[in-house]
Amino acid sequence: MYRVMIQPSDYANISKAVERAFELFPVQIKARKVLIKPNVLRSSDVNEGIVTNPALLRAVVEKVETLKPASLIVGDNPGLMSYGANEQSFEKTGLMDAAKDYYRNIGNESAEIKFNPEFMPSVSVSRAVMDADVIISLPKFKTHGLTVITGAIKNSYGIMPGAQKAALHKAAGNPARFHDVIVDVFMIRPPDLFIVDAVVGMEGNGPASPDLRDIGLTLASDNAVALDSVIATLMGCDPAQLLFLQKAKKSGLGDYDMNKIEIIGQLNPIPNFKLPPMSGDAIFSNLTIQEIMTQKIMLRPKVDGDLCSGCGTCVDQCPVSALSMADSLPQVDPEKCITCFCCQEMCPEHAITLR
Ligand code: SF4
Ligand code: SF4
Repeated sequence: MYRVMIQPSDYANISKAVERAFELFPVQIKARKVLIKPNVLRSSDVNEGIVTNPALLRAVVEKVETLKPASLIVGDNPGLMSYGANEQSFEKTGLMDAAKDYYRNIGNESAEIKFNPEFMPSVSVSRAVMDADVIISLPKFKTHGLTVITGAIKNSYGIMPGAQKAALHKAAGNPARFHDVIVDVFMIRPPDLFIVDAVVGMEGNGPASPDLRDIGLTLASDNAVALDSVIATLMGCDPAQLLFLQKAKKSGLGDYDMNKIEIIGQLNPIPNFKLPPMSGDAIFSNLTIQEIMTQKIMLRPKVDGDLCSGCGTCVDQCPVSALSMADSLPQVDPEKCITCFCCQEMCPEHAITLR
């Protein structure tokens, strides 16, 4: 039986939920090398709810300190690929302060790891990830336009430095194959414990949507498939419909069958939770979502000219150079676009939607 904790909490008392998570899912920390990996998608204000809240990170850091690890690192690989982006992302979100003195730019040093040759023979993974004895993953409760939810499995995509993430998006080539990729990346080094910031969650056009939702929960588990299944269920989405969970189950990582998951707490689906626009009602129709995923229904970025500041970030970040500026607005080449959602994730003005 897999187990998932669902604990009511707010940011002021989140250390109680962290304490409970460590009681329920004990991890041997003493004299071991520990890495804590929050979800730091990009530089943003903490109130935007795009990243793991600093209150959760601080509570986990302070808990781990009491358990006397040999070493402790806090790090992630945000999406933006530019000098100083890692530090800026941690500073602006308040995560640098919450990490105390344990922050490290884990994107600076990487190891080459064998990968699924269907996509790439090898990938670069942060060396701190491969060196850690214990990894504690701190996902954020959010929707995601490509994978519907971004939780425990998707948080591990950040074990790779930014340029490698973009290259794998390109190698995946289409949204359906990207579901396989995120599971393959997760399997490189599955974390040992997951604690999810679901105090304030994100709905709608995630993972950088302006639609936040007060949920008031902290979730935890030592099994990513069970945990993501609970996140999906809370969002009102059938986990059995999610392609990456299907792949994860086939790969022996766990199960989305709720009869095989013990809930420690109350599992009450959130009323009228807004799923990403591309899934919406389609998530309940296997045929339709398969069509979307194989691009029979073509999704392409659409820029809102009233919101766009013309910063050019999306053009710089597109892994296949499908965007270019014309009249100060990004234009997409539909023949080149692989619907990876990177431009939408990185746009600081929330100006891009996938239509
Ligand atoms: S990242 Fe957003 S604001 Fe910047 S150019 Fe692209 S659409 Fe406009
Ligand atoms: S235009 Fe946007 S969605 Fe299309 S490939 Fe580039 S970054 Fe990805």
